[in-house]
Amino acid sequence: MNALENRRFILARRPHGTPARDDFRLEKTPVPSAPEGGMVVRNRFVSLDPAQRGWMDDAPSYMPPIPLGDAVRATTVGVVHESRNPDFAAGDWVLGLNAIEDYSVVTPGGFTSKIDVSIVDSPSRYLSAVGAVGLTAYFGLTDAAAPRSGETLLVTGAAGAVGSMVGQIGKILGLRVIGIAGGAEKCRRLVEDYGFDVAIDYKSASGAKSVDALSAEIAAAAPQGVDILFENVGGDVMDAVLLNLALHARVVLCGLISEYNAPEKIGIRNLWQVIVKQATIKGFLIAGYVPRFAEGGAVVAQWTGEDRLRVDEDIQHGLDNAYDAFMRLFSGANTGKLVLAVD
Ligand code: NDP
Repeated sequence: MNALENRRFILARRPHGTPARDDFRLEKTPVPSAPEGGMVVRNRFVSLDPAQRGWMDDAPSYMPPIPLGDAVRATTVGVVHESRNPDFAAGDWVLGLNAIEDYSVVTPGGFTSKIDVSIVDSPSRYLSAVGAVGLTAYFGLTDAAAPRSGETLLVTGAAGAVGSMVGQIGKILGLRVIGIAGGAEKCRRLVEDYGFDVAIDYKSASGAKSVDALSAEIAAAAPQGVDILFENVGGDVMDAVLLNLALHARVVLCGLISEYNAPEKIGIRNLWQVIVKQATIKGFLIAGYVPRFAEGGAVVAQWTGEDRLRVDEDIQHGLDNAYDAFMRLFSGANTGKLVLAVD
């Protein structure tokens, strides 16, 4: 690549349902200059997250839609290339909300912070263990779910970045942990690599299992019911768990990935169970915990340092591979936190 080129992964068209390759294009532009009071960051690692799919839609959300013709918004870790801000110098490692591109312009007042890469084995850890993923798992379970030792926790999307950490934190807190994931290999990893007590495969040889079939497996794994449901998936998987809630269960609604590419929203049919079991459903958004990031990050860093928390990363390479890499989230191909290495 020409050193003066900036490759940008542009949202060319709003996806309808599952994103198509043609919804994006790779554009080459000159490397921008730092604005007064701002800087230019050379991105090294880009976070690929299910949330980006929502930002591509023109629908009300907690963030404005990505404008058409703009690079796809992403959290990145990179190095300051040029700075006109007294608080940052060229060469500083930073974490920020930027885009899938080689170089990002950071305007004054933006959400960018310096990071200490000497305390981690790879700067990409700021996108996984000690980034939003680790903090989502930590605060989503310890704060939003209010767990008590001995309770039964069920995690959906359990082999993914957030789910695998939620389950392990559940074990640290003394919970009995059940995970639901797709495929025998992921279920093996849940038990052998992450220490879950039970793993349930929501798929069968002929496709996704029915709500009734899945519900029966959950009932066998949790005869006293599920006290905490940490929900990442929605749809039939969530419906099956709702049939197995314990009295006064808490449901932490973290994600609904089965709906993200559905042209029509799927919805939940067993909400009645929330009334029957006098359960609580709480919407969780990590953005609400920004003032507590340092506190949560310290605990997660300690647990990972003590090898009590295993955090896997699925590192894909190259901006020209951005579409295929992103789609791994929806095929279930990712094994751990999905990250795109820009070089
Ligand atoms: P993951 O690493 O879990 O990757 C996504 C996984 O979801 C896939 O590997 C796949 O696993 C599963 N999946 C994909 N499509 C479907 C489907 N149609 N039905 C069932 N499962 C599916 O991603 P993350 O850990 O980054 O995110 C997990 C969830 O957490 C997402 O819903 C995300 O939106 C949410 N989230 C929410 C945050 C918040 O603040 N509320 C912050 C961060 C994440 P499998 O092979 O098992 O099907």
